[in-house]
Amino acid sequence: MNDDLYLKKIDLINTLKEENAIRNLKVEKAFFEIPREMFVRDEDISLAYINAPLSIGYGQTISQPYMVAYMTTLLNLNENDTVLEVGTGSGYQAAILSKLVMEVYTVERISELAERAKKIFQNLGIKNIKVKVGDGTLGWAKFAPFDKIIVTAAGPKIPESLLKQLKPGGIMIIPVGESTFIQTLKIVKKDEKGKIYIEDDIKCVFVKLLGKEGW
Ligand code: SAM
Repeated sequence: MNDDLYLKKIDLINTLKEENAIRNLKVEKAFFEIPREMFVRDEDISLAYINAPLSIGYGQTISQPYMVAYMTTLLNLNENDTVLEVGTGSGYQAAILSKLVMEVYTVERISELAERAKKIFQNLGIKNIKVKVGDGTLGWAKFAPFDKIIVTAAGPKIPESLLKQLKPGGIMIIPVGESTFIQTLKIVKKDEKGKIYIEDDIKCVFVKLLGKEGW
């Protein structure tokens, strides 16, 4: 990494800490370790550490670093957790998670993006991420239930399949909204008896969650 990019990376991480999106050393370390420049398009490498989403082709985006940090923090991750991510996109969020938990399962509906992400994980030597091409609104039954679920695209409601695949004591973070321009980040908690609690958090803007239990 050149000096300019390195300084921008330090600046971004400091901003995310000031904004309270990064709240502990483990998440901060994950942001240091994962090179966002490897997940953006070649022509955007100089923009890799601006606090904004960027296009990755196919009408999709790599999420804004603030959102990645904020959602990662809300998941309250433990090193033994298994996490399901819906919407692999560039693979950046999954790579951050891979540094913080035991295993990440990520589902992407666009096969070209899933393949691209897999190659980046290989190049980085990341071995604890499994990628599947398919409709993530249905979860990934084979590896369910999950300690944590993160959905990085916004649908009209919380998919039933994902609620079922969340472990008792688990947390799911998901943007939901009738509007495709602005949505609400929901924090979903399942208690040990299986009762669901849903809390509205900040407003956000995500691409559409398409699929059987999405748009
Ligand atoms: N987490 C990604 C990252 O770190 O780059 C950003 C994801 S992007 C904002 C949302 C992704 O969700 C897109 O790649 C889109 O194709 C995918 N997506 C939308 N609906 C989906 C579905 N039902 N199943 C799986 N992926 C879906």
